[in-house]
Amino acid sequence: MTDITAPRFKTEAAARKHLEKIRWPDGPVCPHCGSIDNASKLKANKKAKVRPGLWFCGDCRTQFTVTVGTVFERSKVPLHKWLLANHLINSSKKGISSHQLARMLGVTYKTAWFMSHRIREAMRDPKPDPVGGQNKVVEVDETYVGGKAKNRAFAPPPKKEAVMGLVEREGKLRMFHVPEVTSKTLRPIMVSHIDRGSYLMTDESTVYPAPGEEFAGHGTVNHSAKEYVRATFWHTNTIECAFSLLKRGITGTYHHVSQKHLRRYLGEFDFRFNHKDISDSERADIALKGIEGKRLTYRPIAAGA
Ligand SMILES: [Zn+2]
Repeated sequence: MTDITAPRFKTEAAARKHLEKIRWPDGPVCPHCGSIDNASKLKANKKAKVRPGLWFCGDCRTQFTVTVGTVFERSKVPLHKWLLANHLINSSKKGISSHQLARMLGVTYKTAWFMSHRIREAMRDPKPDPVGGQNKVVEVDETYVGGKAKNRAFAPPPKKEAVMGLVEREGKLRMFHVPEVTSKTLRPIMVSHIDRGSYLMTDESTVYPAPGEEFAGHGTVNHSAKEYVRATFWHTNTIECAFSLLKRGITGTYHHVSQKHLRRYLGEFDFRFNHKDISDSERADIALKGIEGKRLTYRPIAAGA
């Protein structure tokens, strides 16, 4: 158990030590030549411009730190605040707003917003394996998020965005922002993210029968009273629960999520769901491992999401 009073959330040195332990379980890895455990730690020295956390590679003879090539590189925010932000996001079931994060970290809203998006990027699985397989049930469903007319008395309410989700029972969840809910938009996602040997479970929507034929089996649930007797197998409760948490997060925590960034929030909710049976610190450490090679280069225009 780790709480937010742990040293790594308080001092830069402890934070760096923790990140080194997570990123380099077998000793320091040189980001320039890839050599493992052949680097020596340089003693911090202000006069000689040796900053703390600097390593010297015995093979390619260059210097590096644990943040090279990560989202934390060149950040003005101290590393322990990054680790705290990562911990808070990973331990908040419904997410945490940038306003709240800003207050808790003592940084500006804009900084908290940038940090949140970088952490979400670290939580993203770059090469997700298909879910399901033989004798596995995959539930597929769709929902709509956003579109609440709150504080917009003189403007039309924002458009509702369609989200399709697929989840293997006792397995992984993946949610996708789709332009509209049709067989044509859902099929490519279904066939690339669900193993064809899976048994599909959907509601009786007309969009599923066609793509459903490409899988080992396809059961449908009719949400009427009679169906409850079959509910131990013929149900879509797993995906419905995931959607309900997402919606409570989007309306309760984030209030409004722009169309442009919706997929990042979906990735955040997927990540927490897919690592739900471990502790908050274990989940946060897995996210920390995801920081490699994910330096964000885009510049968001609005800070509204
Ligand atoms: Zn090297």
